[in-house]
Amino acid sequence: MKSSHNHQDRIVVKVGTSTLSRPEGGLDRARVQSLADELAGLRREGYQILLVTSGAIGAGMGHFGWTVRPKTLREKQAAAAVGQVVLMESYRDSFQKQGLSVAQVLLTRQDLEDRKRYLNIRASLFTLLKLGVVPVINENDTVSTDEIQIGDNDTLAALVACKMDARSLVILTDVEGLLDKGSGASAGSEPVIHDVVSITSDIERLAGKRSGSRVGVGGMATKLRAAQMVAASGIEMWIVSGRKNGLIREALSGRRIGTHFHAQKESLSPRRRWIAFGRRIQGSVTIDDGAASALLKKGRSLLSAGVTGVQGDFHRGDTVRVLTADSKEIARGLVSYEAVQVRQIVGRKSADVRRIFGTDAAEEVIHRDNLVLIPRS
Ligand code: GLU
Repeated sequence: MKSSHNHQDRIVVKVGTSTLSRPEGGLDRARVQSLADELAGLRREGYQILLVTSGAIGAGMGHFGWTVRPKTLREKQAAAAVGQVVLMESYRDSFQKQGLSVAQVLLTRQDLEDRKRYLNIRASLFTLLKLGVVPVINENDTVSTDEIQIGDNDTLAALVACKMDARSLVILTDVEGLLDKGSGASAGSEPVIHDVVSITSDIERLAGKRSGSRVGVGGMATKLRAAQMVAASGIEMWIVSGRKNGLIREALSGRRIGTHFHAQKESLSPRRRWIAFGRRIQGSVTIDDGAASALLKKGRSLLSAGVTGVQGDFHRGDTVRVLTADSKEIARGLVSYEAVQVRQIVGRKSADVRRIFGTDAAEEVIHRDNLVLIPRS
């Protein structure tokens, strides 16, 4: 039995709608039970478990007899409201058989973006863990509207893992892992890529764009983004099949199972994590090669002279992406100017910026301290 409860033992497990749904629709209670059995076993070994679950909308669909995911926001919200109860009741019963209690935690993007709210949530999640309860987390779909929602639980799980300083994030899904679609094997029999040390553009290409299934929303693209987010925070991630029992333990004990995304050695400070991953991205600036190398190699701030384009409509202090001429994202940062102002000073020298905005104007479009390089290779 492990005695310590430091972050080495803290695990976030995310389970997707496709894993929890029966082929004919509705919640697969047997699957919920086997998940509860496995997580209870890990708890007994001393792991702290936070479960991020999808499936509320899916369970709501079952309730209403809908076979395809609703399209309108209102219907999704209604399905989630009804389905969340079904989902929690199933988790409560299943964990109860293992002598464990569950707690329902429904989060929105604002809860995680606002520092005070997030610290509050963190404290209450830690209290639940200390009390031996399994927090079961989902997005609060009924109050989240399209503009403000996180939208997929891969991202939600990654945010939770980062904010709770977890050791690992394990994503259970309906495929065996990230498949090597470039291997030449026929569709459905591609080999699993077992180890991903860094998320290169080749790896991203394997993910494609579309959602993974008829009932779920995420697909491989959101999983890769989640991996990028947690890896940069020093947390490892697995994608394993949720249709087989026992794979979470096997992954955690280091067996070559599913896809293992390695944690980066140098993890970001909490503030930098918040800048890079904690907030909604409001726009982007494109920069020239000289500015890109000043950022990447010399640790400089981003000046207007190196900016070649501005996308989106952001305010001062918002998070924006920094893109190279060929649209690769190399950094994210808190921007010192509004989008309309950056448009005015694209390509201008600092002296011009001062002439336009006054001598007190910020020297940098993004100051170095507010800039986080997005690691890739
Ligand atoms: N929050 C949604 C639900 O519970 C799922 C989002 C997702 O599948 O990623 O149905």
